[in-house]
Amino acid sequence: MICTLRCLPLLAVLLLPGCALFEEGASLSNFHTVVLDPGHGGYDNGAKAVKGLPEKMLTLDVARRVKPLLEARGYHVIMTRTTDIFIPLGGRTGISNAHPDAAFVSIHFNSASRRAANGVETFYYNPRSAPFARNILSEIACCYGSHSRGVKYARYYVLHHNMRPATLLELGFVSNPAENAKLQDPAVRQRLAERIAVGIAKGHGGRAPLIGG
Ligand SMILES: [Zn+2]
Repeated sequence: MICTLRCLPLLAVLLLPGCALFEEGASLSNFHTVVLDPGHGGYDNGAKAVKGLPEKMLTLDVARRVKPLLEARGYHVIMTRTTDIFIPLGGRTGISNAHPDAAFVSIHFNSASRRAANGVETFYYNPRSAPFARNILSEIACCYGSHSRGVKYARYYVLHHNMRPATLLELGFVSNPAENAKLQDPAVRQRLAERIAVGIAKGHGGRAPLIGG
């Protein structure tokens, strides 16, 4: 469909949630708001760790750690959840899509039936979000001795239905006994949070751009 920029918001309303549009105004260079999305919550535990906290608690903990680090860099930060509650996926993208100046970062931990699986990876849906995913991966890879599994394309709901620059982070495997032992350590999660904040701000030279700038 041929469309001018002016009709994009209307189209978005008509087409969402069936089809997400990366709004033209949304850009990696000018976002001021970061929507942090701790994966899972409530009855949805996410991945079960071989020992310790389940994925839903680890994601919330990391998001809580990232928030003040971004605020210190001048960003406005919104969390899709701040407690152990279930938020539908559409509610998560709805928060992002309601903020034209936002970028969206979903936080997850991985699990696999193969116990040896390990490492961190980041995902994007719209190719224009790929640099965002790459910036964060380059910071978190190796930050606790983990290896990089790369930046990958995926049609995940929270990415596909997102109108903003959006990435989903998989911060390591809680199904891997050695990796899980590290991820259960709050000091490791703090280090991860610091690297995530650096990665988010990387395209802006480390600080949120000036409003209107
Ligand atoms: Zn998850």
